[in-house]
Amino acid sequence: FNVPPAFNEPVKSYAPGSPEREAVQQQYKAYYNGQADIPMWIGGEEVRTGNTRDIAPPHDHQHKVGQYHLAGKAEAEKAISTALEARDSWAALPWEERAAVFLKAAELIAGPYRARINAATMMAQSKTIHQAEIDAACELIDFLRFNVEFMAGIYKDQPESAEGIWNRVEYRALEGFVYAITPFNFTAIAGNLPASAALMGNAVVWKPSDHQVFSAQVIVEVFREAGLPGGVINTVFGDPVMITNTVLEHPDFSGLHFTGSTQVFKNLWKQIGTNIERYKTYPRIVGETGGKDFIIAHPTAPVAQVATAITRGAFELQGQKCSAASRVYLPKSTANAILDRVKADIASFNKPGSPEDMSNFVTAVIHEGAFDKLASYIDRAKADADAEIFAGGGYDKSVGYFIEPTVILTTDPHYVTMETELFGPVVTVYVYEDDQWEATLKLVDETSEYALTGAVLSGDRYAIAQATRALENCAGNFYVNDKPTGAVVGQQPFGGARASGTNDKAGSAQNLLRWVSPRLIKETF
Ligand code: GLU
Repeated sequence: FNVPPAFNEPVKSYAPGSPEREAVQQQYKAYYNGQADIPMWIGGEEVRTGNTRDIAPPHDHQHKVGQYHLAGKAEAEKAISTALEARDSWAALPWEERAAVFLKAAELIAGPYRARINAATMMAQSKTIHQAEIDAACELIDFLRFNVEFMAGIYKDQPESAEGIWNRVEYRALEGFVYAITPFNFTAIAGNLPASAALMGNAVVWKPSDHQVFSAQVIVEVFREAGLPGGVINTVFGDPVMITNTVLEHPDFSGLHFTGSTQVFKNLWKQIGTNIERYKTYPRIVGETGGKDFIIAHPTAPVAQVATAITRGAFELQGQKCSAASRVYLPKSTANAILDRVKADIASFNKPGSPEDMSNFVTAVIHEGAFDKLASYIDRAKADADAEIFAGGGYDKSVGYFIEPTVILTTDPHYVTMETELFGPVVTVYVYEDDQWEATLKLVDETSEYALTGAVLSGDRYAIAQATRALENCAGNFYVNDKPTGAVVGQQPFGGARASGTNDKAGSAQNLLRWVSPRLIKETF
């Protein structure tokens, strides 16, 4: 069980004049001026159906940068059958061979593919270089490295044996294939969901988000170059209903690894229930879904620290992290000072724009549907008597899907944007009376339909302890004196409960255990 010790990939600065900045700018230009033609990867073959959809950057939606090929039913079926063909020999490989493929993939991303995976993520997912670097490069590399370490820890875990017998556990891959459905907002998650199941010996049918195929293609190229045998991971693009129906009706479907919206996950769960008699085995269902993540500040919390937690927690990546702060509870005594600082932060940013300009902090939201939804809630707050726009509130989709970082102030703790997940750069603030701290903790608990992330900021140790207990069911990842985003693999395993998911912590041995079906062997001598 000797594996290289995992470590977090250092984040590069992309300072003006640095070689990494030069490289990513060049790659961005090449993508912008090129016309990528992105095939699926099924059974180790590139598959082009000729039925294509265009790709345009969210920050420049009239500019086509490529196209990708869509699966028909035949391709979805082929992805399943090649996964099943590949499964046995892949699962039978010595585990070191599987680990080596993914360790090699990590090093390829750290080195020769770094500029490409970052530029692809900037282009089609509209991430700033910094947000791309911490995701598509560092977090994905970290998942790949740490998973190998977690895997070795799992395999090492063996039962006791009494005299004359030998008990041992084989951590076998699931029988069948795993279906991975991945989101647009993190390239790292898109890579990790298929890769973690594959590392444990499974074969995977992977459906990336339509808005992430650009960087998915780089992931595929990395896995290929790293030596992943054809058929172990198969990509299928396109119609989610057709693909999902094909997969979930198959008797060998044995697990779902999902990150995406709460409603889609619930629908998948129901569909799996409806199909349960078809399956050879009970499928594993692992999902990380929505959030309505909170920040609550105690009157003793330092003003500047709270303001930074709000600005970074709510507006980085245009608020499109599942972990993003979207509802904030501030005490009356410091609320004005905190809000003024947040407003000054927003005023110091450039107007939302393209990630090609590396001085931009806010770029575009992912697509027109997201833009329209956010704009409608902003308009509603402008009109409603119990809400006001404290900062931002502007939007414009003529060139890109740009929404200004926006702070809504409300006098109603149940105001619609205090309870509805918007998934954009819009945060809603409710101001409580200082002597209502405990009542406010209760309020946060009662309104936490989701339980993904949350943060308490306080200079008072007792208040921290109170919040930690009172909010124990409200966040799978709970942050004290920090923003609620930015979990680091190997340090803060990530996931939530209630409507936020099955809490099988991404970046943990617990997650990898969902992708094995252990066999206990007792041998008597
Ligand atoms: N792990 C990310 C974070 O801690 C969020 C993941 C997600 O958006 O699904 O910010």
